[in-house]
Amino acid sequence: MFADLHLHTHFSDGTFSPEELVNHASRAGLSTIALTDHDTVEGCDRTARACGEKGIGFIPGTELTGEFENHEIHLLGYYLDTTHVGLLSEILKFQKVRQTRIVEMVSRLNRLGIPLQTEVVFKLANCQSPGRPHVARALVQEGFCSSLDEAFDRFLKQSRPGWVPKFRISAFEAVDLIHRAGGLAVLAHPGLNRSDDAIPVLKGAGLDGLECFHTKHSPSASEHYAGLARKYDLLITGGSDCHGMSKGKPLIGTVKLPMEYVRLMNDRQNTTRISSFNPG
Ligand code: AMP
Ligand code: ZN
Ligand code: FE
Ligand code: FE
Repeated sequence: MFADLHLHTHFSDGTFSPEELVNHASRAGLSTIALTDHDTVEGCDRTARACGEKGIGFIPGTELTGEFENHEIHLLGYYLDTTHVGLLSEILKFQKVRQTRIVEMVSRLNRLGIPLQTEVVFKLANCQSPGRPHVARALVQEGFCSSLDEAFDRFLKQSRPGWVPKFRISAFEAVDLIHRAGGLAVLAHPGLNRSDDAIPVLKGAGLDGLECFHTKHSPSASEHYAGLARKYDLLITGGSDCHGMSKGKPLIGTVKLPMEYVRLMNDRQNTTRISSFNPG
């Protein structure tokens, strides 16, 4: 009985549709999944429906980009009210920023002598929340790079010539937004962002959990973060961060979060919902 709580679809930079994602979840034998597309909750309804048909538990979520002391960190929101007006109006702004950033990235590439067209990236992305992976795929599709790795290494990684910083709300604002939309806020893949210093500070601001298990966490990193989660009384979560096929196989289900952790998340969600319920 396992869960995978970090997944993307083609509503952001994943390649699976919600239905394809759920079919893979079913084949992997998962009991519960969460959808955490970047800056959108558009895929949640369809994923929930597909999960319902397969008897798989579903948690609606998103992955927001925040800033802590000049570093980019990612915050996962779980159990979100996907109709929450405040959440929807904020993520609409993040999506506009992403769309403008694509235009900026392409014009940088053009100045470098790469005649990539913006329309090609938008057509390929075909979503409200485009990102660097779409630019990378377009560079490969148009023959300007031979692989996604090459596209990131030459152009798109931080401080490479095609890189454009993304406007970020503060990590505190991101935690607050997730809470206002009824969700639990979890710091994503802390091992990737070297964000240990942020953990106690964000806990003080209401952070609920830590993504201890992640594809790019070594066993010792996972153990380290599970230790910090216990130290700071944070929920332990985990997920594969599947964006589609990876080396010929779907990544979904390769990080297996034991269901006891999902039950603890459910418990926390139920108690905070009740204690923060304000009839006014
Ligand atoms: P963005 O939100 O537009 O900055 O893009 C971030 C996304 O790009 C991440 O969620 C990853 O899916 C992907 N990504 C970041 N760095 C790399 C890399 N070096 N190689 C491949 N994909 C990457
Ligand atoms: Zn992504
Ligand atoms: Fe992330
Ligand atoms: Fe992710």
